[in-house]
Amino acid sequence: MSLWSLFQVASQLGGEILGEGAVIPTSLSMDTRTIQPGACFVALRAERDGHAFAAQAVEKGAAALLVDHPLDIDCPQLVVPDTLVALQRWGQRRLEAVRPKLVFGVTGSVGKTSTKELLAAAVGGWKTPGNRNNTLGLPEALATLPEGLGSAVLEMGMSTPGEIRRLTELAPPDAGLITLVGTAHIENFAKGPQGVAEAKGELVAGLNRGGLWTHLASDAWCRWIAAQPWAQHAEALPVGEGEAFGWEGIESLGAAGGAFRLRTPAGSVPIRLQLPGEHQIRNAALAAALAIRLGFDPERVAAGLGTVSPEPGRGRLHDLPGGGCLLDETYNASSDSILACAQALLHLPGGESVAVLGSMRELGPEAPRIHRDTGAALKALGISRLWAYGDFATDYAEGFGQRAQTFPDFEGLRDDAAGLSAIPAGARILVKGSRYWRAERVVDWLLAR
Ligand code: ATP
Ligand code: MG
Repeated sequence: MSLWSLFQVASQLGGEILGEGAVIPTSLSMDTRTIQPGACFVALRAERDGHAFAAQAVEKGAAALLVDHPLDIDCPQLVVPDTLVALQRWGQRRLEAVRPKLVFGVTGSVGKTSTKELLAAAVGGWKTPGNRNNTLGLPEALATLPEGLGSAVLEMGMSTPGEIRRLTELAPPDAGLITLVGTAHIENFAKGPQGVAEAKGELVAGLNRGGLWTHLASDAWCRWIAAQPWAQHAEALPVGEGEAFGWEGIESLGAAGGAFRLRTPAGSVPIRLQLPGEHQIRNAALAAALAIRLGFDPERVAAGLGTVSPEPGRGRLHDLPGGGCLLDETYNASSDSILACAQALLHLPGGESVAVLGSMRELGPEAPRIHRDTGAALKALGISRLWAYGDFATDYAEGFGQRAQTFPDFEGLRDDAAGLSAIPAGARILVKGSRYWRAERVVDWLLAR
């Protein structure tokens, strides 16, 4: 069954076709900035009405339009009552129709994209591209899912309760992986950490009967999930100390990436990663344990994991013009990921260790305390200098103590001549911040200095 024509989509979803129904869209897109030629443009009603961008989508090569009223544009159209409902049903029906042998769902407060990449490489499977992990991006990706797949690995994200439940309704997984239950988006959870755990647990609740899911044995909230009545239809696979699967003998954590041995009931498997940091070893150990336990060949799993290289903003390492190195982790920031990346930095060769951090977002009233705690934890780890910018910069600095400098924003940091000369030659620099602060600007500036 190749990709669906507009006729076939209409037979699945209903709706009325205007123009050439035999056209076969090769992808879906709701964004004219990133649309690919041949795509079906989905006109969603959000803050802005996507129908206003349909003509632009056609100019950029859209082959079809999914709309809620006929548009006076020369392009095949499927007219449905609600384009969001239609988008979600399209993804859901496509998955049901082509049915990969195994569907994996990956969630967690941090490390979903990294682990999705690792798991897909371990099992040689299809994966959701980029960060398409929500109730729009996931069905958008699934709508043109190829047929005949062995495995499909889906990233499932959430910022509020109920989102992962909805994702598992659209795409029920056979196997699941929770990287970590942490504090991301905690302001949206009245019940605090238990609320976050319940929301991550929706992945387990949504697993197909007899499903298997994995988590770190050290993650108390995951063990809590495993004990809930709604988790009993699935089997939990804890990974870590004292368990059948765990990692032992971390051999390297340096610039070339991590190397370790995965302990399994059938012996230990050497695994070499291109990604820096112990956090990526934990992600890889979870992915490998799940795959091997499901019957994938350990050697192939190890070989697959070794092919994954860092994406921009997620663990890419640069040499600095004046000596030293820069670890680009600018994609986003949470307390867990900052501390994990700071540890990775400290394993790299070089001189002084400097953290350049934009503030974190979506932490609610606890935000000042979380920034202070993160600053203090960085100091305790052994980071020697902190440059903080953004709205909670002074809280970071208060926690860190001496040798912290604060700036209101990126421009303030860049224009501060004292700050500029304060970076010692040969330093190791970690750059990180929430997406909002676009910390990649700091990377570009430091590399061009
Ligand atoms: P998002 O919620 O934006 O989709 P994500 O959960 O997909 O994020 P990644 O994009 O994989 O997470 O990683 C975000 C940051 O967290 C990166 O800096 C990465 O190095 C770091 N990270 C990845 N895995 C872990 C982990 N297990 N523990 C702590 N930090 C991690
Ligand atoms: Mg992600």
